[in-house]
Amino acid sequence: MKLNNLEHYEEFFICAYCAYCVNNNAACPTFLSVRHEIVTGRGKMITARNLAQGLLNKEEGLEALKDGLFQCTFCGACEQECMVDIPLTEVYTELKGLMQDRLPENTVKIFQNLESKFNIYGMDQADRNFWNFDVEDTYDELVNRSAEVGYFIGCMASYMGRASGAPVAILKLVTHANEKISIFSPTENCCGNPFLLGGCLEKAKKLAQHNVNEIEKLGIKTLFVSCAGCYRVIKEEYPKLLGIELPFKVFTHMEYLLNLIKEKKLKLLSLTNIKVSFKDPCELGRHCGEYEIARDLISSLPGIESVELANNRENALCCGAGGLVKANYPELAEDIALRLIQQMEEAGTELCLNACPSCLLNIDQFLRQQQSSILAIDIAQLVHRLSQNYQNSLIVNQ
Ligand code: SF4
Ligand code: SF4
Repeated sequence: MKLNNLEHYEEFFICAYCAYCVNNNAACPTFLSVRHEIVTGRGKMITARNLAQGLLNKEEGLEALKDGLFQCTFCGACEQECMVDIPLTEVYTELKGLMQDRLPENTVKIFQNLESKFNIYGMDQADRNFWNFDVEDTYDELVNRSAEVGYFIGCMASYMGRASGAPVAILKLVTHANEKISIFSPTENCCGNPFLLGGCLEKAKKLAQHNVNEIEKLGIKTLFVSCAGCYRVIKEEYPKLLGIELPFKVFTHMEYLLNLIKEKKLKLLSLTNIKVSFKDPCELGRHCGEYEIARDLISSLPGIESVELANNRENALCCGAGGLVKANYPELAEDIALRLIQQMEEAGTELCLNACPSCLLNIDQFLRQQQSSILAIDIAQLVHRLSQNYQNSLIVNQ
């Protein structure tokens, strides 16, 4: 572990210990739950600096740093608030790179799954179309075809039934709009985000190269993505990992759907008396600066009343699942989610709209546990419902 070889080594020494990263605006969600400074930006910077200077017992310092790094949800709130602009999330990734022999147990398991099966769950690649039973004909028509526009589905929506509402809704909408896009579900691999969140850039690179090759093979020029994590990684990290300019553009599924509405390819019916709140995913919002596309899409939906949560856009609360926290520290993920759910209750939210399957799964689990009347769905599912003239009572939590 040679901290002084790190690209971001100098930044340990510019940290002003001001604690803006701890409690400004959105604040550190992990700190609000565990109340131990090691999990904060400041705590990690002080510990790394003390280790680098030999002021801490090495073993104890590394173990403390490990806790701080892996309980972090990668929400980006600290980086946004840092008064001296330390690129904190990059620093964390670099430090995690030095922790490969200390990875949490479930991160190791996820890494093994990615290396053997190319998805986070270790399931067979052949089951990547697990979600398509309701849209099989459209799936067969679109899969592996050459097209200008492609859709990257991601592991969670492919394998986790509760998250598959997004691809199902999108394929139904594509059919209604008579669009001929391409999906490459059988050859799609994990985007590589878990490797990056675990600090292993080299392994992420292989998955990135595979996916870029598959996308290129189909002639895709515009790729849309329904997972905030996949979106961030493909758009922001692939060019850095592979040292290339991507040969295709990357959009969110929200932008794709909004364009279909603007081009009048989707006919939407009005749904009234329902209050929706968009949950800004950290990897879409703070990490990529994408805040307005969701609001634009919602305001294009007739009859929908949008209610902002008290913390929204750059100050949005984290759902608690990111950074592999859900896999390794489920109780922490729960505690963070409950704060978000409380804000939804206070706002009078009836439908929580998501653009990230990781947020959706975590929020949904604890909404159900709390027996809340709030429903969590992907934003594409609402667009699909409106295109189908469903009535309020038929908006079910599928
Ligand atoms: S990324 Fe989020 S959870 Fe991690 S230290 Fe920063 S504010 Fe805390
Ligand atoms: S906001 Fe930046 S400078 Fe201030 S304590 Fe946090 S990491 Fe250090």
